[in-house]
Amino acid sequence: MDFDLPQEHKLLRDTVRAFAEAEIAPAAADLDAREEFSVELTGKMGELGLFGMVVSPEYGGQGLDYLAYVVACEELARVDGSQAATVSAANSLGIGPIYYFGSEAQKQKYLPALCTGEGLWAFGLTEPGAGSDSRASQTRATETESGWVISGSKLFITNASSPISRGVTVQSVTGGRDGRPELTCFLLEQETAGFSATTMHGKLMWRASDTAELSFAECHVSEDAMLGTRGGGSNLMLETLDSGRLGIAAMALGAAQGAFEASVAYAKEREQFGQKIGKFQGVSFQLADMAVEIDHARAYLYRAAWLRDHERPFRTEAAIAKLFCTEMASRVTDAAVQVHGGYGLMKDSAVERFYRDQRILRIGEGTSEIQRVVIGRSLGL
Ligand SMILES: Cc1cc2nc3c(=O)[nH]c(=O)nc-3n(C[C@H](O)[C@H](O)[C@H](O)COP(=O)(O)OP(=O)(O)OC[C@H]3O[C@@H](n4cnc5c(N)ncnc54)[C@H](O)[C@@H]3O)c2cc1C
Repeated sequence: MDFDLPQEHKLLRDTVRAFAEAEIAPAAADLDAREEFSVELTGKMGELGLFGMVVSPEYGGQGLDYLAYVVACEELARVDGSQAATVSAANSLGIGPIYYFGSEAQKQKYLPALCTGEGLWAFGLTEPGAGSDSRASQTRATETESGWVISGSKLFITNASSPISRGVTVQSVTGGRDGRPELTCFLLEQETAGFSATTMHGKLMWRASDTAELSFAECHVSEDAMLGTRGGGSNLMLETLDSGRLGIAAMALGAAQGAFEASVAYAKEREQFGQKIGKFQGVSFQLADMAVEIDHARAYLYRAAWLRDHERPFRTEAAIAKLFCTEMASRVTDAAVQVHGGYGLMKDSAVERFYRDQRILRIGEGTSEIQRVVIGRSLGL
């Protein structure tokens, strides 16, 4: 067994950390306050090679592995959840379905621009009436002589309405039998007539990440726009989420790490009752507990990424990593606010944004309850 992070991953970690501290940290609070998606930072993250991380260089990708993806998401989230969300979703939810399920022509057509961060692709699964129950989709695709007509809507879709959004993978109902819907995915380009993507404002967290409500008013797409097989849409989406959950867990780990570091620094500097608050056992025990939780979470998540990289079954392990890391991040960021006292609740504190940003992670890409359903299934329940 080797518990050392490989040399190239250490180098990646240091590079992303330096970039996040130099380029993202100074802009993050302002972008968050203004709810502004940054094309400029996305371009810079593209130059750093943070898009198409696991995609083969043949399609413009970086040819790295999932451990590298996890390390990069963790380091971005250690500084800012919004930029981490853009990168995490672009790699797993945007690029993933095209890379793993696309035809050669679809890969050649779409991947090169998505792997530079020049363009973003989105993952259209959730609908107003179909969240955890993703097979309850109402968006329909009807076959015509020249292709398909898509009608319906999607909600809470990441990277779908930014100035550089190029399109979305849409899960649609294409038929059904015995009350079971036949679900099929289509690649729908941003300029398609009848398609609109409206940015959703007023989020608690990830305020500088792009989230949109989508409407499909009789959108015509060609036969070539089908992704994977007819009826294979749900499996495609669920397999994509298995890998995506590693990215969500990594963002939780990063937020916890950022909040923890800020708390240790604060405990060494803030004085009450004539001494540094870190000298009070009541505070130092909270910091010790944070260290224990973060260490556990990182060890488990890296193992889940290792399983994925070695092409071993990893669905249950990804669900465990997502569940544990995201619930750990809630506990750790809450304790971080506690250590900061009243200051921790103010916008200019180091921990207020971590506390908000981590909250989505127990909901997105399958809630904590759905992770328990997945883990329960592995137990034959
Ligand atoms: C900022 C943001 C970005 C997102 N990005 C995307 C994206 O890019 N693409 C996309 O498709 N979706 C995206 N989502 C949607 C996200 O995946 C869903 O919000 C999530 O899957 C939960 O669905 P829901 O919100 O409809 O909640 P619901 O499914 O209505 O759940 C409500 C509650 O009921 C519980 N519940 C439901 N079913 C069960 C069950 N069987 N057992 C126990 N408890 C259950 C849930 O755990 C939850 O607590 C995003 C959401 C947000 C907020």
